[in-house]
Amino acid sequence: MNSVQSTSSLTVAKFGGTSVADFQAMLRCAHIIKNDTSNRLIVVSASAGVTNYLVRLSQKNIPVNEQKDIVENIRVIQVNITQHLSSEVEAALNQEINSLLDELTQHALTQSLQYSTKTTDAILAFGEQFSSRIFAQVLQSIDVAGGYFNVQQVMKTNSLHGKAVVDINELSKQCTLLLAPKLVDKVIVTQGFIGQDSHGHTTTLGRGGSDYSAALLAEALNGTNLSIWTDVVGIFTTDPRITDQARAIKEISFGEAAEMATFGAKILHPATLIPAMRRNIPVFVGSSKEPEKGGTQIKKEVESNPTYRSIALRREQTLVTVKSPAMLHASGFLAKVFGVLAKHELSVDLITTSEISVALTFDNPSGSTQSLITNTVVAELEQLCEVSVENGLSLVAVIGNGLTGAKGIGQSIFETINDINIRMICHGASANNLCFLVDERDANFVVEKLHNTLFS
Ligand code: ADP
Ligand code: ASP
Ligand code: MG
Repeated sequence: MNSVQSTSSLTVAKFGGTSVADFQAMLRCAHIIKNDTSNRLIVVSASAGVTNYLVRLSQKNIPVNEQKDIVENIRVIQVNITQHLSSEVEAALNQEINSLLDELTQHALTQSLQYSTKTTDAILAFGEQFSSRIFAQVLQSIDVAGGYFNVQQVMKTNSLHGKAVVDINELSKQCTLLLAPKLVDKVIVTQGFIGQDSHGHTTTLGRGGSDYSAALLAEALNGTNLSIWTDVVGIFTTDPRITDQARAIKEISFGEAAEMATFGAKILHPATLIPAMRRNIPVFVGSSKEPEKGGTQIKKEVESNPTYRSIALRREQTLVTVKSPAMLHASGFLAKVFGVLAKHELSVDLITTSEISVALTFDNPSGSTQSLITNTVVAELEQLCEVSVENGLSLVAVIGNGLTGAKGIGQSIFETINDINIRMICHGASANNLCFLVDERDANFVVEKLHNTLFS
């Protein structure tokens, strides 16, 4: 059996849902790991589709029959993988899977009796529990000395279920103590997305959070590289699902990639680059299906800094406009508005102001089932001013370099889409980004058309 060579380089490699969707996909990932001995810590997502099933299972009032169907569907996804392993390993894994499924059923029952976000997180964490256990065995099946590690031992968070905040000092301490020694002679497989609060309860970092987990672990372990293996051959000039004209980018700076992630490019969880930038850890993004095609390098210094690098799209945006004549020449009005928003833990995304009104945007996390701006929030704001709330909007972000200073930018962008109604524009705060809101129905068309103009 290959053991890990002692080397000064330490790559944390993250494999997303489609990369661990079935046995063949897992096997491809295992070979990627075997072929590069710097890969030492492996962070996996749930097998594709499993977290979506778990999200449904964690909702209120799911009929018992549907609960059973979901648990069975998840079981089938997982045992379809384990059947390819030796019969001994298969039997042992299936036993573990079945007892985890019993636990999951128990949580679903608790949830239907008394709904809580704590139980939601307990349910959502199962996908990564299954995939990490199975993947550790797939690695061993090709003679890579692999071990399994429960990330909850180190990924300590607060109790904000669904978007828990990681205690990076504690993570670093626990990694040095519990995880680093294991990496000396084994490739360790662990879970993305999940953590644990100080009460010992399971927490999650938000949808798509495995990228962020991997980056945090790379930082805590003084990693030399972070690899994000996914289903596309790198970061593209825009989401390749929107236009087939999109093309892979060879290299991109931390700043540009961070803007892309923040402004909706699903390829990376929005917070992924924060830990990488803190420690200057280069990040590679590539396809686990076609590793030979290379991918995108994200790093501090890049060779070229083009004005236009990419276009990101973030859907489900809410625009809130607050208006009050009392704002004219008055101080303290905005502080009161923000006080209401802070009280409800609402984070403002973009902001533009005029003399007596302020427009604010809010990002609805994808998959959220209720509007962020509740009637209570509106009622409290209405004590201060007139309020209007618009949903069904999309944010288009043009990412590049020197966007605050270069000439002709407004013309290139807005002349291309002069037949589109633009609801709000934000320009000037970042040299890497110019963004604007459009009607959800126009979003794909706008991105496609802009892409044609800026990248043809
Ligand atoms: P994983 O499960 O591996 O984390 P995701 O589905 O979260 O994968 O992210 C990969 C997807 O991100 C791609 O399939 C692609 O559709 C989408 N995507 C959005 N914007 C971009 C972009 N600029 N470049 C590449 N992929 C993008
Ligand atoms: N499994 C989680 C999700 O689907 C986390 C991830 O894949 O990054 O959101
Ligand atoms: Mg993802």
